[in-house]
Amino acid sequence: MPVAPLRRILHCDMDCFFAAVHMRDDPGLRGKPVVVGGDPSGRGVVAAASYEARKYGIHSAMPAAQARRQCPHTIFLRPDFSRYRRESEKIFAIYRQFTPLIQTLSLDEAYLDVSEHLGDFGSATAIAEEIRRRVRSERRLTVSVGVGPNKLVAKIASDVDKPDGLTVVRPSEAEAFLAPLPVRRLYGIGPATEKTLGELAITTVAELRTTSLDLLLDRFGSWGRTLWEHSRGIDHRPVRAHQVRKSLSTERTFEENLRDLDSMDNILESMADEVARGLEKRRLAACTVTIKVRYPDFTTLTRSHTLPVPTSEAATIATIAHELLRRTDAARRLVRLLGVGASNLVPGDLGQRALFEET
Ligand SMILES: [Mg+2]
Repeated sequence: MPVAPLRRILHCDMDCFFAAVHMRDDPGLRGKPVVVGGDPSGRGVVAAASYEARKYGIHSAMPAAQARRQCPHTIFLRPDFSRYRRESEKIFAIYRQFTPLIQTLSLDEAYLDVSEHLGDFGSATAIAEEIRRRVRSERRLTVSVGVGPNKLVAKIASDVDKPDGLTVVRPSEAEAFLAPLPVRRLYGIGPATEKTLGELAITTVAELRTTSLDLLLDRFGSWGRTLWEHSRGIDHRPVRAHQVRKSLSTERTFEENLRDLDSMDNILESMADEVARGLEKRRLAACTVTIKVRYPDFTTLTRSHTLPVPTSEAATIATIAHELLRRTDAARRLVRLLGVGASNLVPGDLGQRALFEET
């Protein structure tokens, strides 16, 4: 039987990243309950809470109004995604000096496969310590790191000693490390699986491990095998290094030059639709919207607008595109090409609509 090569995976997770960036840059916020998110007098929700705020039971996804009730002297800040994105790029640049095999999970979370890149450090633990030291000294922020034989274990480990923690789980310790945890801590176990397992009187990983593979296959289909493996600390999922998308755009050259703003608006609208669908599909949102205009003499220009809050909505992108078009000579000149682009992309799964909804 082929033996799977031993892997060394890091899960790096910045400590309450959004709030930490504000607190680093504004010493007046340090040691205070700080919440980054929507309007507490509206229907906004908490995107990030400082550890001081968490002491009052405040956590992300909670309505901001409730956070204010639980701790009236909380300082509420509106998110500044372009700032987080710039910071994130600098942190990931540090990671890239240790391995090219990096899977980005969000602006502040990543898996690093260092198996083939131990280099002079000699061990994944030494790399984790060095990454933590460099993020602290170069970015004045803290990152918690979990080290394990796979993604499953590394991710759970990074959470054990948060904030500013380092937890190393050796391959031989993985089973024992996972055993006492509730099953919902395992990758992919949501409320539905948790409930089904609960009906089988399985609430901990140790209990899951004593369950036969046949029973799990019977109840969960092929997913049952994954559960069986994960309960034993086995996880073959690779770290998938993917190109981080920087922008999304679409453009069209017209056989016949366009001459009226209405038709240009219509085309921009359908392009905005296309870009929005692309963002949605990749679960991204854009801080910046750009249009491109080319006149018959091939002069090409772009106009951009950066939003305070990232968007993935077609209507918003279209509205901006229409406004940008009016900052060109399109009304007075023929147009042979139009384009719409979205850039400064951030993860779009933060529920911006609820987060920033004003009432
Ligand atoms: Mg984090």
